[in-house]
Amino acid sequence: MQELIRQLLAELGEDPSREGLVDTPKRVEKAYKFLTSGYDADIDRVLNNALFTVDYSEMVIVKDIDFYSLCEHHLLPFFGKCQVAYIPSTRVIGLSKIPRLVDVFARRLQVQERLTNQIADTIRDKIAPLGVAVVMEATHLCMSMRGVEKQNSFAVTSAMHGAFRDNARTRMEFLELIKLRSAVPGVREPAGYACVGEE
Ligand SMILES: [Zn+2]
Repeated sequence: MQELIRQLLAELGEDPSREGLVDTPKRVEKAYKFLTSGYDADIDRVLNNALFTVDYSEMVIVKDIDFYSLCEHHLLPFFGKCQVAYIPSTRVIGLSKIPRLVDVFARRLQVQERLTNQIADTIRDKIAPLGVAVVMEATHLCMSMRGVEKQNSFAVTSAMHGAFRDNARTRMEFLELIKLRSAVPGVREPAGYACVGEE
């Protein structure tokens, strides 16, 4: 990877051997390996021993999980907050594992819609809850840094299963509890595609 980064620097018109850039390929490789470390993560190991059987069927919410990801169209960051809720059937996930789960999928090349779905689908598959909802709000640097369509640089996506999809009251309760700072998204209705169909 380091040789590729050196070539990239040269292609950009830089001198890869100048002092400030000499160690850049090494640093970039390290950064990219970390930022894409989600590919190597094993979900079952991440959730290792953190699935518990409970007699509890109220909504569990983990709010304002910070996440950082890379858009697969431009390899530029998109980042923001993730809201996760589910209603247990017989099992729960240890609360601290939810942000870890978000990281596993965020640390890959992503589009926000797929990232949102992967988190929701994994929770559904691992604990079969009565419902699961994930809402993500993010700023996309590929849009804001390039000065294109500023109004679309902030995107909201949601994925809802079970009670959150079927029961309007449950969905409203969740949306009220997380108090989005942007428009309330509908069920599986992407509020804004951040970088789709462009050059
Ligand atoms: Zn992009």
